[in-house]
Amino acid sequence: MGYSYDDQNIFAKILRGEIPNATVLETEHTLAFRDIQPQAPVHVLVIPKGPYVCYDQFVLEASDAEIVDFNRTVGEVVKAEGLQSGGYRIISNAGEAGVQEVPHLHVHVLGGRGLGRMLQ
Ligand code: 5GP
Repeated sequence: MGYSYDDQNIFAKILRGEIPNATVLETEHTLAFRDIQPQAPVHVLVIPKGPYVCYDQFVLEASDAEIVDFNRTVGEVVKAEGLQSGGYRIISNAGEAGVQEVPHLHVHVLGGRGLGRMLQ
């Protein structure tokens, strides 16, 4: 079963320029912007520009160029936000079990403070 993409989701509106965002980086296939409710001093969301709901759909269906661009941008955000020395966490929530609020793939990049242990 495939995923169906709702183009009225909030990140689709951000990509169309219908609502503003605090952009950190933008490339041909990817946008990185600050989370509106940051959970850490650095909390950046990285999203592909294409209509992908979640991580597995993206890596299975997107082009190599989109996948490389997306992953490079995550790395560039870590670097640009100065997280390489202090460390960081990357999270992508998917679907109901993952408690995904916005149905457009996003990776959270968190850092700038001790983030605690997540997995026991
Ligand atoms: P999820 O729970 O889907 O993994 O995370 C969605 C994230 O999007 C949340 O951290 C939330 O604060 C953020 N968010 C929701 N609406 C907006 C918005 O309009 N602009 C920005 N920049 N972030 C948003």
